[in-house]
Amino acid sequence: MVVKIKDLKIEYCIGGESFAVLDIPSWEVNEHEQVAISGPSGSGKSTLLNVIAGLLPSKKGSVQICGRELAGTGEAERDHFRAENVAYIFQTFNLLQGYTALENVLLGATFSSQKTDRGQAKKLLERVGLKSRLRHYPSEMSIGEQQRVAIARALVKKPGLILADEPTGSLDPHHAGEVIRLLREACSENGCALVTVSHEASIVASFDIRVDFLKLNRACDMAGGGQ
Ligand code: ADP
Ligand code: MG
Repeated sequence: MVVKIKDLKIEYCIGGESFAVLDIPSWEVNEHEQVAISGPSGSGKSTLLNVIAGLLPSKKGSVQICGRELAGTGEAERDHFRAENVAYIFQTFNLLQGYTALENVLLGATFSSQKTDRGQAKKLLERVGLKSRLRHYPSEMSIGEQQRVAIARALVKKPGLILADEPTGSLDPHHAGEVIRLLREACSENGCALVTVSHEASIVASFDIRVDFLKLNRACDMAGGGQ
């Protein structure tokens, strides 16, 4: 099991008042599975990915990722866990501005125990259509190109699990389809599981396993359907 969640509850406290963002009784993702999550804005999808990546601590319930219990662990332990096991394609990319496309991809594996492979990084950038952008800095690339660099950076790490938050949000339909195909192909080749969040119906429909977040997350009822 790559993801095994039980009785996960996350609350945010605003102005002294706490409100539930996540209440997930049970959810599992098996090895090699590719899952698309869809749901309205504000329903807690990014929060769930943050918990799975170990960026956000969960105090209640159990969150087992790649066989490891994250609930109750400290930040340093979760950082190490993430470096080895999870690649996260953020909605806002989080590219390092002072580094070129190629360097950003190489940096994707920096903190894992894997050897960084320059040839592989170049090949991945080529596969996402950025062969001629290796030496470009993020500020010299379009948003769509930056998003493809972020995807190549996730793939270079060969993790057990890739999390992708709206990975095609800034791409035109042609590139969106290509990027999802590439992501899914690379996950199959490397035997890693993929959990992607998307609001694009055609992207979600291309996945065999689809999760309606409003049904998965009980806190959405209390929040008025995540509006
Ligand atoms: P989604 O990704 O589905 O759009 P998010 O997970 O980003 O939703 O956010 C879920 C809810 O939690 C939203 O109502 C948002 O305003 C709130 N939220 C997100 N991050 C924080 C935070 N750090 N502090 C307080 N509330 C937050
Ligand atoms: Mg989000």
